Amino acid sequence: MPLYDFHCEQCETKFEVRASIKEKQAGLQPECPICHSQAVRQVVTAGLVLHGSDGGSLPSSGPTCGCSNRGCCGS
Ligand SMILES: [Zn+2]
Repeated sequence: MPLYDFHCEQCETKFEVRASIKEKQAGLQPECPICHSQAVRQVVTAGLVLHGSDGGSLPSSGPTCGCSNRGCCGS
């Protein structure tokens, strides 16, 4: 069962709520375990961000114009 991070806006407490996908889709509205406020918002963790293409791994050698003709770039 997935775990969701929530943050209470009332007392600034961070807590976790375990809920099924079904419960989540039905509109999960947990309350703070400390102050029992429902003024909570879900904290979206950025741990699932994929590594984008940085393009920095290209070899720096070779003709700068991208052609295969050696004489073209003066090399
Ligand atoms: Zn609270």
